[in-house]
Amino acid sequence: METLAYKCINCGGPLQYDAGKQKFACEYCRSEFTEEILQKHFGKLEEQLNEEAKSEEMSEEDKLYGTALFTCQSCGAEVIAETENTAATFCVYCHSPVVLTNRLKGEFKPNMVIPFKISEEDAKQKFREFCKKKWFIPKDFVSDAQLDMMKGVYYPYWLVDSRKDGGISATAEKVRTWREGDYEYKETKIYRVRRAGIINFMNYPQAALSEDNNKNILKYVNPYDDEDFRPFTMAYLSGFLAEKRDLEREQVQNDVDKALAEYAKKIYRETVEGYDSVRVDDFELKTLTENWEYALMPVWMMTFKYRDKMYMYAMNGQTGKNFGALPLSKGKLALFGIGLFIALVIIAYFLMGG
Ligand SMILES: [Zn+2]
Ligand SMILES: [Zn+2]
Repeated sequence: METLAYKCINCGGPLQYDAGKQKFACEYCRSEFTEEILQKHFGKLEEQLNEEAKSEEMSEEDKLYGTALFTCQSCGAEVIAETENTAATFCVYCHSPVVLTNRLKGEFKPNMVIPFKISEEDAKQKFREFCKKKWFIPKDFVSDAQLDMMKGVYYPYWLVDSRKDGGISATAEKVRTWREGDYEYKETKIYRVRRAGIINFMNYPQAALSEDNNKNILKYVNPYDDEDFRPFTMAYLSGFLAEKRDLEREQVQNDVDKALAEYAKKIYRETVEGYDSVRVDDFELKTLTENWEYALMPVWMMTFKYRDKMYMYAMNGQTGKNFGALPLSKGKLALFGIGLFIALVIIAYFLMGG
């Protein structure tokens, strides 16, 4: 399998993307490079790879993604990629970043990327704070070894721009009541309401990886901010893990249609104001134009085993929004239960005393 190693222009050491500085940094000689400089050096190489992908028949190996064997360009070791969707990883022997170019070429070349904005140090700090707030987490949980399990991963997403035309018709009521002498009057005015209009959805994100656990957790770290989208270059992946998509547009089109229809209905409905009740009778929506792009989005991710159970923590690598399914300490829970009981006893005691 072909790989691309982004090496320091000054000393040849491995380059990693430094999220804090938003630059590419060399661990050995401490040189830093901007994206433009790196593009000048490696851009041709990436273009060449993409041209090859267009002209060349996909090899049997590429079609299957079965043999995930690659040679590390830094130490020469033969290494196997973790999963068949791995697109960027580290050499297990020398820990140099490796980009598996076959999985990012041709139809699998992403259009866009949001580079990591939260550095590894900040991610670990945020995890510590997250755990501190959760009172039930066992003490030995936030150890250094545990923190080293934190990985920066680029996840594949579809980004959908969709221009929709549609509307709703609804039955709305205004009710007025008043008294005159012994009588109470109630007046109900019934309105037929219609709302129609064009809605432009921009960059609606749809996870493009089928692993169930991850997809579920990704939902909780969405959304991403559009302002940091950049045209994709492989260099951003250097120093992180990356996954290649395994869900094609046809497989998720229905999910996207359903989600956007829900949003559209809500948007139309929210423009019907000033009534006591509103019932939507009819809803119509059609797609005028639609454009799908393929993007990689940054997530700090931790999966871990604690007393034979798997847990997961994820953080949006751009905004810091995080989510975790973490173990609860039974000891602490019991203590909390006793605390409550004592508090109740004290209150009861005061009540009796008074
Ligand atoms: Zn260097
Ligand atoms: Zn190596």
